[in-house]
Amino acid sequence: MTGRSAKKPTADASDWRGSFPALHQEINGHPLVYLDSAASSQQPAAVIAAVQTYQECSHANVHRGVHTLSHRATEAYESARDRIADFINASNRTEIVFTSGTTDSINLVAQSFCRPTLKPGDRIVISHLEHHSNIVPWQMLCEQTGAELVVASIDESGQVDVSEITDLLDERVKLFALAHVSNALGTVLPVKEIIGIAKTRGIPVLLDGAQAVPHLPVDVQDLDCDFYTFSGHKMFGPTGTGVLFGRESLLEAMPPYQGGGDMILEVSFEGTTYNDLPYKFEAGTPNIAGFVGLGAAVKYLQCIGMQRICQHEKELLEYMTMQLSEIQDIRLIGTAANKASVQSFMLADIHPHDVGTILDHQGVAIRTGHHCAMPVMEYFGIPGTARASLALYNTRDDVDALVAALHAAHKIFS
Ligand code: PLP
Repeated sequence: MTGRSAKKPTADASDWRGSFPALHQEINGHPLVYLDSAASSQQPAAVIAAVQTYQECSHANVHRGVHTLSHRATEAYESARDRIADFINASNRTEIVFTSGTTDSINLVAQSFCRPTLKPGDRIVISHLEHHSNIVPWQMLCEQTGAELVVASIDESGQVDVSEITDLLDERVKLFALAHVSNALGTVLPVKEIIGIAKTRGIPVLLDGAQAVPHLPVDVQDLDCDFYTFSGHKMFGPTGTGVLFGRESLLEAMPPYQGGGDMILEVSFEGTTYNDLPYKFEAGTPNIAGFVGLGAAVKYLQCIGMQRICQHEKELLEYMTMQLSEIQDIRLIGTAANKASVQSFMLADIHPHDVGTILDHQGVAIRTGHHCAMPVMEYFGIPGTARASLALYNTRDDVDALVAALHAAHKIFS
């Protein structure tokens, strides 16, 4: 096989694209070009079908019923947990807690892992490029406990400084919470190196993997992180589903986050005995259909293979960055050497919302604004950016359509 014929990710992506019904429609008279997967990805037919079949044939409440539908629902829901444990290489299915999304997972760790022991003088460290979901829960926690939130800086390319982080990680730090991949800038952070440093000092690390799991192979044992959080709707699954991976010994020691059904073994007015892991953290009736869909999404990803997806997106991001950089008056925001799936930019002095609206008229869907990362925008001295984000189903044709639409936008405003 020649090097050229071995490099055929675009043809593969065209095939993968065929599995996503939503991509085959026209918007404003143009074929849809969907470049907003960092906000929420589209769902393959296999996910839509799994949810529909579950709703039509197997829906009932989980864990409690003795009847056949309840068994089927429990089996479908729990097999999603097994699949996800396998997907991120958790050492045990009990380490996979189902939540409503990354935000919920991070809040759970803040309130259950940190809050009971945090005190004035303690520190939580995050970085400057975090999504609001990995900032605000820590701010709230610090207000509640008197602890201090410390922010590791970023540079002009959008990367963190490992030596600064090394200096910050002292005995006062009770948790380091860090994005695996930045949603606003696309930076892939050197998380393994940072976790290695934190480990030598006994500091637990939480990774916000919302933007990593759909794009890179993730192995929580290899990373050696203590908590890993992600959202179903960014990885081709339904909204309202998310995962908290937690190291079993830590989850065991943590008190429940919320009280209610399913997280108990026995309740009396004298006291309550909590359920085993992971159910201790899953109070109330869960989003059963959503997790059935998420299980199907993970199966879909496993069938293609994360390594292939990663390689395809890497080449496509390089192509997109090169094509965008040739547009007149463009400023690329987020230029780190190691990036995944996202390119933010400003086009001349056109407000990003105007860029987004003009692109939508041409069928091209991108995100505009602060991307729930206002401190990043403040760092670059801008109100927001236009952001094109890739997923496995995007192709060079999508990038070409984006570039053509941006040329048209530039013309309108010049
Ligand atoms: N963290 C990152 C890096 C994100 O990109 C997002 C969503 O954009 C979140 C957290 C929050 O995810 P969710 O809204 O699904 O909880």
